[in-house]
Amino acid sequence: MSERQSPFREVPPRVDFPELDARVLRFWKENRIFEKSLALRAGGPLFVFYEGPPTANGKPGSHHVLSRIFKDLFPRYKTMRGYHVPRKAGWDTHGLPVELEVERRLGIDGKRQIEEYGVAEFNRLCRESVLTYLEDWERFTERIGFWVDLDDAYYTFTNDYIESVWWLLRQIWDKGLLYQGSKVVPYCPRCGTAVSSHEVAQGYKDVTEDSIYVRFPLTAESAARLTGDPQARVSLAVWTTTPWTLVSNVAAAVHPEVTYALVESRGERFVLARDLVERVLGRAAVVEREFPGRELLGLRYEPPYTFLVPERPAHVVIAGDFVTTSDGTGIVHIAPAFGEDDMRVGLENDLPVLNAVDLEGRFIAAVAPWAGRFVKDADPDITADLRARGLLLAVEPYEHSYPFCWRCDTPLLYYSKPTWYIRTTAVKDQLLKANDEVVWHPEHIKTGRFGEWLANNVDWALSRDRYWGTPLPVWRCAQGHHHCVGSVAELREMATGPVPDDLELHRPYVDEVVLACPECGGEMRRVEEVIDAWFDSGAMPFAQWHYPFENVETFRRRFPADFIAEAIDQTRGWFYSLLAISTLLFSREDQLLRKEDQA
Ligand SMILES: [Zn+2]
Ligand SMILES: [Zn+2]
Repeated sequence: MSERQSPFREVPPRVDFPELDARVLRFWKENRIFEKSLALRAGGPLFVFYEGPPTANGKPGSHHVLSRIFKDLFPRYKTMRGYHVPRKAGWDTHGLPVELEVERRLGIDGKRQIEEYGVAEFNRLCRESVLTYLEDWERFTERIGFWVDLDDAYYTFTNDYIESVWWLLRQIWDKGLLYQGSKVVPYCPRCGTAVSSHEVAQGYKDVTEDSIYVRFPLTAESAARLTGDPQARVSLAVWTTTPWTLVSNVAAAVHPEVTYALVESRGERFVLARDLVERVLGRAAVVEREFPGRELLGLRYEPPYTFLVPERPAHVVIAGDFVTTSDGTGIVHIAPAFGEDDMRVGLENDLPVLNAVDLEGRFIAAVAPWAGRFVKDADPDITADLRARGLLLAVEPYEHSYPFCWRCDTPLLYYSKPTWYIRTTAVKDQLLKANDEVVWHPEHIKTGRFGEWLANNVDWALSRDRYWGTPLPVWRCAQGHHHCVGSVAELREMATGPVPDDLELHRPYVDEVVLACPECGGEMRRVEEVIDAWFDSGAMPFAQWHYPFENVETFRRRFPADFIAEAIDQTRGWFYSLLAISTLLFSREDQLLRKEDQA
């Protein structure tokens, strides 16, 4: 061992990392190093970071460490390179997860019980609940050394934030891109609300369910027309993965160009796609005659169920270009209330919409044997009933990918329900163009996961039939006129009575504000819906500054972001809502794809 003095401080061979860690954190905190690092770069070029707001209604998990480390690393690096990198924290505070937590705590379940409990008190608890773990989050953020300004955070539930969101919606409204449509939407019967496509994309699971092959017996007249034999008895062979929708059946669809066959099997006669005869009926089935699907159009059959009486002629064979022979029988049962294709061909053929299911996903009273049952739970009984009535041909397990509510894990139903949409499809080209200018890491996300998502864009299902969220600022009068309110000042101006100074921009308080209709002078009341919380978080570039009501200059300097980093699931969450809202806002009239251009 040399006696010479080392120029370096001695490094102990056994380092106590936790102690070292704590010492550095303490040093940063006591000496306000983060604040100093910002102040030192105050005159430097700006590097804009956006904090994707986490929800603080659950404790932070270990997976949050990784994304927050990434969010920290690059701003630090840029700071070292001379940039000024302000880091405003933010919290996502609205939406179903918050409501579910409060429902659980109160021991209540579903919307009826929430309304019995009282919306004002329920929402007060939501506001409280969303901050329950804020301290845990702050401690966690500090502990992992994530430098972000927690003292100047934005919260999506504040009046200022909501007012900015209202302003954004008003801009979209003024461009004619906010509309109410009655499409078939994925719907969570437990949460009682429609779910947007980006949420559905997060909840697919592979499940195996019983699919069934069913007889739809042709009427005597139609059987005679098909066979030339007035005594003939013929059934359409129909396949479905959702027996419960048979109660709302109104038609059977065939592809006009596909070849179908009249088949004899075990003393019975069936019609189905020729290519599927052997698979469905076995090798013993004898093909009597082949013909194109169009020969079947207009044939009538006995409805599988008669609980609901259609107000127009129904139970007829129609054409469907979506019918394939990859599964089933090549004859698709049509229930317009529960399928997108079904709704479209239903409208094309002027078919009635039968809907035997209430908003909680249960059979209505008219469906006596299963009234009040959750429809999917009734499937086995419906299958047994079909068997007892001689209508069941076969049961076959079917593995497919089925969407579940990503919040509460209930199987989603496809359901026709009036829902408010943003016509994002009108700016699809610009969304793709904007994505071209984004530098993605890893690169393949750009044209892969995210680019494909944009290319398949569907209109944004914006409204939620819930309570704790930004109220959709649309008021309606008895004449059916609508008005979208874009600011609190406008709300006061249009109100028929005094509006409290401290009006909270949440349900039920905003619901109590009655406006005078600018068109007819009648009373306008707010529609009941709140909006998708993903719109809140996607609005943060604007709403974190209460833009355009305040901080106009700050907003301009800090838009858009130079850097954002989140986990991959955000390609269909925050990354999407961020890009969509900015694109909607800045797209000009001449850049919008017209409806007729989109076909
Ligand atoms: Zn749900
Ligand atoms: Zn009016």
